[in-house]
Amino acid sequence: MRWTNEDTPEQQEFRAGFRAWLGDNLAAGWMEAADSGADDKLEKLKADSGFNPFTWQGTIGRSPYAAPLWPEEFGGLSGEVWMQTVIRSELVHYRLPTVSINLLGVGLAGPTLIAHGTQEQKERYLRKILSAEEVWCQLFSEPGSGSDLASLSTRAVRDGDEWVVNGQKVWTTIAQFSKFGMLLARTNPDVTKHEGLSYFILDMKSPGVDVRPLKQMTGSSEFNEVFLSDVRIPDANRVGDVGDGWRCARTTLMNERVALAGISLDPVSFTGGVRRDPWESYLEGIPDRTDPSVRQRLAQFYIESEVKEITAFRANSARLRGQQPGPEGSVNKVFNAEYNQRRSNFAVDANGIAATAWMPGDTRAEGRATTFLRARANTIEGGTSEVLRNQMAERILGLPRDVEVDKDVAWADVKHS
Ligand SMILES: Cc1cc2nc3c(=O)[nH]c(=O)nc-3n(C[C@H](O)[C@H](O)[C@H](O)COP(=O)(O)OP(=O)(O)OC[C@H]3O[C@@H](n4cnc5c(N)ncnc54)[C@H](O)[C@@H]3O)c2cc1C
Repeated sequence: MRWTNEDTPEQQEFRAGFRAWLGDNLAAGWMEAADSGADDKLEKLKADSGFNPFTWQGTIGRSPYAAPLWPEEFGGLSGEVWMQTVIRSELVHYRLPTVSINLLGVGLAGPTLIAHGTQEQKERYLRKILSAEEVWCQLFSEPGSGSDLASLSTRAVRDGDEWVVNGQKVWTTIAQFSKFGMLLARTNPDVTKHEGLSYFILDMKSPGVDVRPLKQMTGSSEFNEVFLSDVRIPDANRVGDVGDGWRCARTTLMNERVALAGISLDPVSFTGGVRRDPWESYLEGIPDRTDPSVRQRLAQFYIESEVKEITAFRANSARLRGQQPGPEGSVNKVFNAEYNQRRSNFAVDANGIAATAWMPGDTRAEGRATTFLRARANTIEGGTSEVLRNQMAERILGLPRDVEVDKDVAWADVKHS
């Protein structure tokens, strides 16, 4: 908590409690190695103890430290925002993952179930989300519906105690590894687009679910197309009332903005390890580090990173007061996305030709190029910057609403692509 300088006595006590828990749960010698900066020793300890992001999430996920803001009843601490900050700083210090390997479960599905799920659903799913025993994905976007998500076409038709679902989703991150998906589908085409949606929990292994990975320009297949053909979902897996899907989806989307704004999606965040000072990697290869224009850009990045953290802290504080995240999540999402792109552009600019061609096996150069390419997605995923700016204009600045010609028209009467 850089801007609060030092822990209060209450924070000190909490930090000591978390350290004691770490002491009980990490391999012998781990904390001493991290305290003394013996990173090679730590790497060996990690390998010898079989440490990986899933085993780690299983360990911390069964403790109350994985989601301190979640209710105690479902595996959290019913706690305060500063607890998250304290935990994160200890995780960084002890070279542990700071982002759950089940990011969409912890960041999106969990808060949605807490807000709208039945008691049975909360009891069934929440703890297994925290322990990453069950990984989740988000089945919202479709080929014809992204920014205008409420216009989506995937149909769910009731058949007794079940729903029969047909349609296609796209951009579905980690669908190929997921046990469950948050599915938004149209249950009534004869009312307006927002009124006709319902929200379901889809078991990704159900018959009729066909997941096809898509190859990205980074070379990886982070997201997928998902085809749904006569997929049957029990009504008990509906979240919220029939026709109330948009309200539940908004909870997911608001939490997605906060989740994506507040974290860094570099591999170390998921796997743990030494967090290299980002400035160090930017400066690598720059012929003249005293160049005033380079120094000026670095100073600007430093200022922006402080602004970003303080805004994220404010958004989290609103959550603590029991409010769902509001427009401040959008402000930070836009800022973080563009800040990431500016930083990765700078890393490439500053390294000149070395950023575009390198010898095989130069992992730093490869990492720099991957970060640069992956950052293009930041201003699209979780809502594009253009659309979020519209929302900020309307909800924060009070400007007139964007024109919506289909707002009061039944979905079935609107032309769809
Ligand atoms: C890496 C990545 C991962 C993703 N993961 C998931 C996932 O797991 N699950 C999921 O459901 N979705 C996911 N998405 C989808 C993402 O939410 C959509 O891509 C996003 O909402 C934009 O929708 P679209 O791609 O259909 O673009 P469109 O909505 O077709 O937009 C095209 C362009 O038009 C602009 N535009 C659209 N409407 C307006 C407007 N009213 N005013 C001004 N400009 C406008 C947009 O800003 C954009 O530049 C992911 C996307 C990416 C890039």
